[in-house]
Amino acid sequence: MPEVQDIIALLPSPPKKDVDLIIDAYNFAQKAHDGQTRKSGEPYFIHVFHTAKYLAELGMSPTVIAAGFLHDVLEDTDTTEKEMQDAFGEEIVGLVKSVTKLGTVKYKGIERNVENLRKFFISIADDFRVIIIKLADRLHNAETLQYVRPDKQRRIALETLEIYAPLANRLSLGKFRGRLEDAAFPYAYPKEYKATKEIMDARKESDEQNLQEFERILREKLEEEHIKTIHVDYRTKHLYSLWNKLKKYNGDMTRIYDVIALRVIVKNVEDCYAVLGVIHSNWKPLPGRIKDYIALPKPNGYQSLHTTILTRRSGIIEVQIRTEEMHIEAEYGIAAHFAYKEKLKVEKKDLRKEYEWIDELKHLQYNNDSKAFLENIKGDFFKSRVFVFTPKGDVIDLPEGATVIDFAYHVHTDIGDHAQGGKINGKFSPLHAVLHNGDICEIVVNKQSKPSQKWIEHAKTMMARNKIQKHFKNESLLDKFKKYLL
Ligand code: MN
Repeated sequence: MPEVQDIIALLPSPPKKDVDLIIDAYNFAQKAHDGQTRKSGEPYFIHVFHTAKYLAELGMSPTVIAAGFLHDVLEDTDTTEKEMQDAFGEEIVGLVKSVTKLGTVKYKGIERNVENLRKFFISIADDFRVIIIKLADRLHNAETLQYVRPDKQRRIALETLEIYAPLANRLSLGKFRGRLEDAAFPYAYPKEYKATKEIMDARKESDEQNLQEFERILREKLEEEHIKTIHVDYRTKHLYSLWNKLKKYNGDMTRIYDVIALRVIVKNVEDCYAVLGVIHSNWKPLPGRIKDYIALPKPNGYQSLHTTILTRRSGIIEVQIRTEEMHIEAEYGIAAHFAYKEKLKVEKKDLRKEYEWIDELKHLQYNNDSKAFLENIKGDFFKSRVFVFTPKGDVIDLPEGATVIDFAYHVHTDIGDHAQGGKINGKFSPLHAVLHNGDICEIVVNKQSKPSQKWIEHAKTMMARNKIQKHFKNESLLDKFKKYLL
C-alpha cells in the first residue's frame, strides 16, 4: 500500500493540522474502499491515492488533496454523505459532491458523454478546484488504460484528447495537458503514435547534443553581457503535439523546429528582451519565427519570447525566454493561483477576468441538441482564439474564423444590430470578413441598418448567432403587437 508520507513529503513544512487532515483522508478513503479492486487487480485505493498525489504535485492545498483522496467515496462505497460531513466538514464534502456529480454518467455513448460534459462545464464556473480534481482523476485513469477493455480504451482516450487535454490547456495547466496527451495518444491513434515515436527517437539524440553545444556558447555570451539566468534547460515536444504539427505540415519534419527547445528562465521582463537581443546579435533569427507572447500573451495566458535561430554548428534551434513567474504560470496555470506552496504562488490577479471564457460558457444558452452543444464547445472554446483590438485598444477574444459581425456583437448588442460594415486596420471590409490575431477593428454603424438572415451564416460565435436570432424574434413580436394596435 502506498504511504501517506509520500504525499506529505510534497508539502513544504506543513503545519500539524494540515498533516492530520491528509492522514485522516488517507485512512478514511482506505477504509471506505477496502476490498474493492480495479481492473488491474490492484486495490481501488491506489487510484484515489494517485489522484491525491497528482494534486499535491500541483501544489494544491491540503483541503483539495483530501478531496482527492475522498473523490470516489460517495459514488463507489457505502459511506454516507453525513459520515463524510461529520469527519471532514462542509467544504470538502462540497468538493467531493461536485466531482461525484461530474462522474455519475459513465461513458455510454456520445450523447451521455455530452450530458456529462454539460454538468462538468457548468460546475467549473463555480469552483475551479473541482475541475482540477477531475483532471487529476482523469490523468490516473488515462495512465492505467492498458487494463481497460479495448473498445472502451479508445473512447476514453479520445475523450481525454478532445475534451480533457484541451481543457487543461485552456486553464494553462501545461504539465497536465502533456501528461494527459502522452497517456491517451497510444490508445486513441496507435499507428500514428508509433510512427511519431520513431521519428522522435531517430533525432532526439543528435538534437540534444546540438542543443547542449549551443547552450554552452549562449551561456558564455550571456555572461559577457552580465545577464544572469535563473535556469536554463530544454524541453522535448510531447509526441501528440508533434503529431498534430506533422499533420499540419503534411508530414514534413524539416518544417518543425521545436522538437526540442531551449528554455531560458531569467529574473525579469527586461532580462527576457536582453537575452533575445544577445541571441539575435550572435545568430540569425528565422524570419516570421520571432513571437512576443509577453506583449501579446496567448489566450490561455501563456507568456514567453520565442525565437528560432540558425546556428552553424547546431542547425536550427528554438529558444523560449521567460521569467520564473511566467514559467510557473505556464506549467501550473490556474492551479498556481490556489497553490499551497509559497513558491508556486503567483501574484494574485483577477481570476474572473483572466478566465472570462468560463463565465461565457456558463451563460451560453444551452439548447437541447447535445451534438450541437458539443460542436459549440469544441468549436468556440477549444480551437485557438484570435485577439482583435477595438480602436481604443480593448481586446476582444474571439474563436478562430470569427468575422466582423462576431466582433460587433461582442462589443455591444446595439453595435451588432446596427452594423453596416467594418474597418479592419483602417480598410473598409464587409461584415463577413474574417478577423486575424492583432487586427484593429472598427465597426461602421448606421441607425437604419438591421440584421439580415444572411448574418447568421456569417457569424461564427454562438453568442452573435443567438443575438441575431433574438433580434428576429423581437421583430416578429413587434409586428404582431403592431397589428393588434392598428
Ligand atoms: Mn476516480
